[in-house]
Amino acid sequence: MSPITARDLDARLAPLRAIGFDARRGTNRLAWTPEDAAAGAWFEEQAAACGLEAWRDAAGNRWATPRGTDGPWWAVGSHTDSVRDGGAFDGALGVAAAFAIAAVAPDDRPLAVISFEDEEGARFNTPTFGSRALTGALADGVLDRADDDGTTLAEAMRAAGVDPAGLPRATDNLDKLRGFYELHIDQSTDLAERGAPYGVVSSLAARLRVRATLRGVADHAGTTPMEGRQDALLAAARLIVAANEQAAGEMRATVGRILVEPNALTAIAAGTTAWLDARSPDSAVLDAWLARVTAAAPGADLAIESRSPAVTFDDGLRALLRGAGAPEVVCWAGHDAGLLAPHVPAAMVLVRNATGISHSPVEHVELEDAAAGATAILEALSA
Ligand SMILES: [Zn+2]
Repeated sequence: MSPITARDLDARLAPLRAIGFDARRGTNRLAWTPEDAAAGAWFEEQAAACGLEAWRDAAGNRWATPRGTDGPWWAVGSHTDSVRDGGAFDGALGVAAAFAIAAVAPDDRPLAVISFEDEEGARFNTPTFGSRALTGALADGVLDRADDDGTTLAEAMRAAGVDPAGLPRATDNLDKLRGFYELHIDQSTDLAERGAPYGVVSSLAARLRVRATLRGVADHAGTTPMEGRQDALLAAARLIVAANEQAAGEMRATVGRILVEPNALTAIAAGTTAWLDARSPDSAVLDAWLARVTAAAPGADLAIESRSPAVTFDDGLRALLRGAGAPEVVCWAGHDAGLLAPHVPAAMVLVRNATGISHSPVEHVELEDAAAGATAILEALSA
């Protein structure tokens, strides 16, 4: 059996990399856009070249499946959408690798390729949209979410040729999957530090997202004495410091988004909304952190917006992927494979990233490393 080569990956990836790419801003290939449609055309060309049949499910996920069969299939995949001003490898590498694997999969193990729609959720704050739809894990009211221009997700789907009314039927295809592998760029330096070209993900960290609302009283920045002010932005600053300082143990906490009212240079802030993102392999660590932050910021109204449990990937698949000694790592980001893992055997391979940077135009992997990781998946599928 011929192993996957860097050259093969490069040839598959090159046309996809060109879609939505700008030398200054990097990659902008958001879900439900013309760039997304162009990525879909690339997907169909890849499928045809592998002798697979391309189709789209009710959530817009793109499938390439063995002709004349109805599954269940083993599948390999990732996503082709990007964040705003993203890089060339996050997601795209995994779908290109999936086609490289499918092209040489043994005839008696026909393989499906999946590109999940809107993994990044960059436009509607709907991360892992497609894999959530497939597994019945979408939040209520998701179709009403609007992008920065006021377009709702339902409108964007319709414009992209996918009927939002069909969304509940996306789960119909879950039983067509026998299992799932995903190859993805490492978004840390874990593998680079270990000198490993690729690694096997043992688990995905649990994640907690909290919305903090802080109330103040708007008043004149010049005429209001310092004593007695009720400054919602100052309170938010204290909350942000608390969220950072209370992040003890094996966890990470970030406040990356904040809205201020009235957001005027000359007015004391009347209201602030901030979003806290915390992750840990152990969800108990997150609950303890939230209790400490709550105690440290008594004026803040903290509401849990979403939480995802930690996900442990399939023992048997991990053992196959480790093969002759690939290391195992914890992954701190969310991925489509994590949504599938509670339903079908699933596993992930991460590819070494020298700087650890992703979601940026400078994210980079060596395709030789990616080829080694893809070959590990091919061998696991063939075992
Ligand atoms: Zn990704």
